[in-house]
Amino acid sequence: MPETPPPSVAPLAIGCVPASPIGRDVDAALRAFFVAMPKVELHCHLLGTVRKETFLDLVAKYDAPLERAEIEAFYTRGERPVGVLRVLRALEDYLLMTPEDLRRITYEYLEDAARESVRHAEFFWNPTATIRDGRLPYAKAVAGILQGMEEAEADFGISSLLTPSIDREAPAEEAVFMVEEMIAHPHPKVVGIGIDYREDNRPPEMFAKAYALAKEHGLRTTAHAGEFGMPWTNVAMAIDTIGVDRVDHGYTIIDNPELAQDYAARGLVFTIVPTNSYYLRTLDHERWALDHPIRRMAEMGLKLHPNSDDPTLHQVTPAGAWQLLYSHLGLELSQLREMMLNGIEGSWASEDQRAQWSATWPGEFDALLAQVRGV
Ligand SMILES: [Zn+2]
Repeated sequence: MPETPPPSVAPLAIGCVPASPIGRDVDAALRAFFVAMPKVELHCHLLGTVRKETFLDLVAKYDAPLERAEIEAFYTRGERPVGVLRVLRALEDYLLMTPEDLRRITYEYLEDAARESVRHAEFFWNPTATIRDGRLPYAKAVAGILQGMEEAEADFGISSLLTPSIDREAPAEEAVFMVEEMIAHPHPKVVGIGIDYREDNRPPEMFAKAYALAKEHGLRTTAHAGEFGMPWTNVAMAIDTIGVDRVDHGYTIIDNPELAQDYAARGLVFTIVPTNSYYLRTLDHERWALDHPIRRMAEMGLKLHPNSDDPTLHQVTPAGAWQLLYSHLGLELSQLREMMLNGIEGSWASEDQRAQWSATWPGEFDALLAQVRGV
């Protein structure tokens, strides 16, 4: 087993979210616990993981038309974050041109995740803008990402799966094309699809054909739904019309408690993001922690799993996402232990791998926590 770097215990940049009236202190030992506890990450976008120095390198490499002030703004999280989509588009339009660029950002993401004890990552990448007009063909682009995944596994012991994700701002035919490319170039580490980018007026059912094709070919499915305040009907559509295996975000399901109860009973896993820009922008900062839908989702018994989403842009890390649930949103450590298991359950890793994690991680979690408590 290759040596994994020792966990870093840098203090979480708490400035990424408002102070919480229900907040709890996190001392260095507890912070180290959040870093060291074994975890999977199921909801992270490759382009939202790019280190600032790598972004600057790519700007220089391609002489991209981006001002330094603009780049600084990309990596500054304001009090009312404006969202990260324009940064992701800049990467697609100017900065990720070769398989090597994609290999590099994949390797660096997985290196950073492994440093915080992410043992397995399933991450999104939107092929559409990159493969459009043959700029970088799908198979070549994916080869670069897969190489980064293999190198990171060899160097840091982190396993990973790539989830190509539908760009819902693009026409539905481009989503079908993405899935056709996946079918034409299958790989055991590319086992499912997702959908993201701006959800307004782009409900999941618009992409039903691409999803149906994916399922027909045995691919797993997930969908961003109920993000950006979009109604609970989008969540219901993703689950009941498209038939996704898990849901990304899904916050507005709290507006239909009856249906939420049903999804809780069915055991659907929701990948949640405590640093979600929409709620930071729209909820009263005094009440952000109190009114955050994640708290209500937990009360409703939904199976939740916290994630970093766009870590370098949200100024959070995988461990930070877990910590925020405890320190800011007031969830209990016993609930986080359940969420660790939800992550394993929701993962698309092999049965054997998941069984092995389920058998060993709870004991690891308990032993690490006992150290913090000095027992
Ligand atoms: Zn996301």
